[in-house]
Amino acid sequence: MSLDYALLRTLHRMLRQLTDIGERMENGPRKVRVVTMNEANFAESLEVSKHALLELRKASNAKQMQLSEREAKIEDMKVKLNACDSNKEFQLLKDRVAADLQANSVLQDEILEQLEKIDVLTDEVETARKNHEKSQNESRRIRDEVDLELKALDAEKTRISQELAEKEKLISADLIVQYRRLVAGKGENALGLTDSETCGNCNQTLTAQTVSDLMMQKPVFCKGCGCWMYLADKHAAGS
Ligand SMILES: [Zn+2]
Repeated sequence: MSLDYALLRTLHRMLRQLTDIGERMENGPRKVRVVTMNEANFAESLEVSKHALLELRKASNAKQMQLSEREAKIEDMKVKLNACDSNKEFQLLKDRVAADLQANSVLQDEILEQLEKIDVLTDEVETARKNHEKSQNESRRIRDEVDLELKALDAEKTRISQELAEKEKLISADLIVQYRRLVAGKGENALGLTDSETCGNCNQTLTAQTVSDLMMQKPVFCKGCGCWMYLADKHAAGS
């Protein structure tokens, strides 16, 4: 029987469109996964820097408390100095006051250093917060964009699938089962364009018999990949 190669060309074009839509439908969720991961990373950085700042503040508070206690102790010792009975006791106490004042001076330096670090960390937390906010906005934007894109692609997929189903009704009863099996197994590669020399899908060289069958518009399946072959419309037999 004679075959309408124009029908095969149309079916192949629709199958390719459906593959393309399928790939584009996978791209969107992939983009969403990337921005979601970014957002999670920025959220984690923010938590890490907030925690570091909190710990440093705690350590700084503890040191400041320690300093206040020591200063109170020194004041206490100064009062006792005035009440000393012996010279020896006075000297001992005076030495202890001097030593504690020295220790406090070291403590004050450490506290200053911590306060500087707190300033740096506060800036870091602020930067991390801004980065996190930016990544939240970005993932919201991408999610909205992908939602819209998916809706449009889904509508296009439905439209093409319906058109394809209509066209498939034109395939003769003796070929429809084989066609369905090929599409189920190979997707768009169920059909293959040939220039009447090689298979457009797998490059298998056609035999003289195959070429002759093609010219007579018989149903021809590639001996290499098994696809259902058709000629381009520039070939006389293909139109
Ligand atoms: Zn082939």
